[in-house]
Amino acid sequence: MSLKDARGRPLRDLRISVTDRCNFRCTYCMPREHFNSEHSFLPREELLSYEEITATVASILPLGLQKIRLTGGEPLLRKNLIGLIRQLRNLSNSIDIALTTNGALLKQNARALHDAGLNRVTVSIDALDPDVFQAMADSTQWTPEDVIEGIIEAKHVGLGVKVNTVVKKNLNEDQILPLLKQFQELEIPLRFIEFMDVGNTNAWNLNDVVSGEEIRTTIESKHGKLTPVPPASRGEVAKRFTLPSGYEIGCIESVTAPFCGDCTRARLSANGSLYTCLFASKGNDLKSMMRMNATSDEISNAIQSIWVKRSDRYSEERSEHTNSTKKVEMSFIGG
Ligand code: SAM
Ligand code: SF4
Ligand code: SF4
Repeated sequence: MSLKDARGRPLRDLRISVTDRCNFRCTYCMPREHFNSEHSFLPREELLSYEEITATVASILPLGLQKIRLTGGEPLLRKNLIGLIRQLRNLSNSIDIALTTNGALLKQNARALHDAGLNRVTVSIDALDPDVFQAMADSTQWTPEDVIEGIIEAKHVGLGVKVNTVVKKNLNEDQILPLLKQFQELEIPLRFIEFMDVGNTNAWNLNDVVSGEEIRTTIESKHGKLTPVPPASRGEVAKRFTLPSGYEIGCIESVTAPFCGDCTRARLSANGSLYTCLFASKGNDLKSMMRMNATSDEISNAIQSIWVKRSDRYSEERSEHTNSTKKVEMSFIGG
């Protein structure tokens, strides 16, 4: 079935936030001064159960869904995530199932994730230097070595692995080249992400953004000319480049080179609302429908009517008023 939104974009990818909690407090995502003991995280009964998540995916599959990404918050904090992956894999042998994680708990979980049917993992790490890592992740308990060990284990057990690095001005720009060296040696693609104005708590400021172009200039100064790689598919978020050595990097330039025209992603929040844009202020409550015993066809019809009306293109319209616009937090909606 070819379902298209108001701008002709299909629904191909679903990002599912399985929890709004996290064991890190990255300053650009869950700054500790906001996400502290006063913050109301979702109570257990508000979270979609694994059966409800699986039922939602089953309703979207016939609409052309090709990829699922489990995220959060930190998805590996949710109990028995392996059980969810098994249920999702039982729905379809061919669907691509990926996980985004901060990597702290990856080492001990990698094999079971793979065996349950996970295809790929994207691991976020912003620095190799322990002090810079701490300044970005504010994680108290975890070190860059813990994350690297998780990455190595994930690759070892046969998962596809990519690494994501958010770059923030005057914080971790000096980590671009060390990270590149580390992951080139491990033969794992690295993607640099521009600091985005998601949510309302991260004190986003355009002056703190390091553009993809600036990142590439830093890389070229050491490694020589980068060669652009044509996108492999519609909806690919990273612009890809190869170094003269053949190693591939990517840049996700949501701020300086928005890619809304090809955005095929929907997001399911941890409490069961469907969002059609990362920067939305409001979602569409599917959980209540499910808890009133809606059938799979009814949920599928609701999702179709949400998607056909979708006209979001926030990054293309981003304005200087971004900090006064009410937006949902990334840890809640799923990064
Ligand atoms: N906790 C997991 C992790 O960090 O990988 C998954 C959830 S996290 C919200 C998903 C991705 O969003 C991470 O790669 C993170 O770096 C990115 N992210 C969070 N806040 C961001 C921001 N303000 N700008 C750019 N990327 C951001
Ligand atoms: Fe947690 Fe990921 Fe957000 Fe960092 S980016 S605070 S690891 S959810
Ligand atoms: Fe998609 Fe919204 Fe991001 Fe544009 S701003 S790429 S529509 S999620």
